[in-house]
Amino acid sequence: MTQGKERIIFCDFDGTITMSDNIVAVIRHFDPPGWRRIVDDVLAERKSIRQGVGELFRLLPSSKKDEMIDFAVNNAVIREGFAELLRFCRYEGIEFYVTSGGIDFFVYPILAKFDIPRDHIFCNGSDFSGERVEITWPHPCEPPCTNDCGMCKTTIMRRFPPGRYERIVIGDSVTDFEAAKMADAVFARSHLTEKCRALGVPYTPFETFYDVIDGLEERVMS
Ligand code: MG
Ligand code: ZN
Repeated sequence: MTQGKERIIFCDFDGTITMSDNIVAVIRHFDPPGWRRIVDDVLAERKSIRQGVGELFRLLPSSKKDEMIDFAVNNAVIREGFAELLRFCRYEGIEFYVTSGGIDFFVYPILAKFDIPRDHIFCNGSDFSGERVEITWPHPCEPPCTNDCGMCKTTIMRRFPPGRYERIVIGDSVTDFEAAKMADAVFARSHLTEKCRALGVPYTPFETFYDVIDGLEERVMS
């Protein structure tokens, strides 16, 4: 391992900490007309993530706020071993950050039962004051990222320079790939494993956070 560096984890939320994607679950559940076309446009890269997510939530009336929060919180299932991973990180002095493309109205309530400082959770914001839900973007891309990420994971990571930090990324999708390329170590599942394999980025596969703890233990001891 890299001697004398502070270990820091950047962990994705949707499909990583939670078993499935909460944005998709909320939109699917409330099923506003027109959402499938927007999702198709994002998947085909005709629209950026930021543009697509903004348009999806604009399909929903702000009056459904409480219903949306309740649905998201009750629907979300936390991946096994998450609390144990947080405990392990605290014990080993590993800083743990959540870097999420999700939205504050579900990210914070779902994580409320875990002891993660609020300033260690990065996600998008939401404004329910108008007729329709408006997503806000407090963490936009900064140069050199031009992907229009919405919540820009690489921008957050660049605040922790590689000379001082050993940067570890945990994620599940193509939206984690740019961060994975910058990382010293990657824990991947689902589409992120395929992308890493195709483009030659080393990774450790995981299904539960117990697998991540095992992988981290090896790094800590080496
Ligand atoms: Mg994800
Ligand atoms: Zn970006």
